[in-house]
This record gives sequence, C-alpha cells and structure tokens, in this order.
Amino acid sequence: MDLLKRKIETEGRVLSNQVLKVDTFLNHQIDPELMVEIGKEFAQRFKDDKITKVLTIESSGIAPGLMAALELHVPVVFARKRKSLTMVNDLLTASVHSFTKNETNEISVSQKFIEPTDNVLIIDDFLANGQAALGLAEIVEKSGANTAGIGIVIEKSFQDGGQLLRNKGFKVESLAQIASLENGKATFLDEAEV
Ligand code: 5GP
Repeated sequence: MDLLKRKIETEGRVLSNQVLKVDTFLNHQIDPELMVEIGKEFAQRFKDDKITKVLTIESSGIAPGLMAALELHVPVVFARKRKSLTMVNDLLTASVHSFTKNETNEISVSQKFIEPTDNVLIIDDFLANGQAALGLAEIVEKSGANTAGIGIVIEKSFQDGGQLLRNKGFKVESLAQIASLENGKATFLDEAEV
C-alpha cells in the first residue's frame, strides 16, 4: 500500500534495527484519512472471506480494526490487556509475550462477543514475532469460531512472525512489509534490491 509506505518513509523513526516508531500516525497520534484507506485496503483483501467479526487488541489495533470493520460492515471486538472490573464472567484468555515491553500479559475477550459461528478477521498494527496474533487466534479457537485471516498494517518481514503464521496455514495480509531497518532506514520487501 503505497500511501502507507510513503508515510512510513517520511514520518517513521527507526529506533533500532528491530523497532520502528510510527507515533505520528498510528501508535499515538492517529491519521484518520490514512486509517480510512487502511480499512478499505483490508476490506478489499478479505472481501471473499465471509468475515463476520473483526478481532483486534488494545490499544494500537483498535483504529485499523475499526476501519476494517466499518468497510466490511461487521462489529469489531478488542482484546483487553488488563482485566476490567466489569468483565468477570466467561472470559476467553491467552498469554501473550509483548515484543516491545518484554513482558507476558494475559489478554482477554468476553465469550459473548465471539460466537462459534463467527468467521473472524484478526487485525493488528505490527507483526514482529507473531505472539499477539497467535494469542488472538488462540482466543478465536477457544470460542469455537474460525480465524478467516490476519491483517497487519506493518509487517517486519525480517522477524519470525510472518513465516510462523503462514506455516500454520493462516491467510496473512500485510499492508507494508519491511525487509530491514538497518542503517536507520526502513527498506520495504518489494523495493529491496535482490
Ligand atoms: P509480535 O507479537 O508480533 O511479536 O509483536 C506485535 C506487537 O508488538 C504489536 O501489537 C505492536 O504493538 C508491538 N510491536 C512490535 N514491533 C513493533 C515496532 O517495531 N514498533 C512498534 N511501535 N510496535 C511494535
């Protein structure tokens, strides 16, 4: 998705060979116009997959997840990283090791929001080692529903997550794939020299 790639080039900050900061448009401040286009792109890529629900994770997955759900005309549910006081019964949970925080959290979704008949599209902002997406897929599995696909805004293809998820048979669609963050610069997979 060219619009996204140009935004990463102009506003992304490479913090290390592993971490990209995109807090001017995705992770802190949010660019609504870009988010609309991201939603349309996800909807286009999953239009034949009979999606009935979008599942994402707070907080940075909510904006792209919401826009994808809007375009697909389905509800969006976000997994919580901290238990809410009002969320006590019938929780579906999974353990997720956070790449950026280097800690393991239990994520949870109220069982009533994912039906066994649902065909779920998982959306997240970044794909690194795949732990967040796998945790969400585990929650879908526990609910008895089906994971129809995984949509990622920015995949860091030099990390293991993409291959891990694709090897498990998931349809993974990433709107920007980064081959490297070396030399302080994001190089995209389809623009890298081969
Ligand atoms: P994974 O679970 O695939 O290892 O990592 C994905 C999660 O870690 C995403 O939900 C995202 O919040 C965070 N993350 C991973 N890599 C980056 C990165 O380079 N930049 C930012 N801002 N977040 C990242």
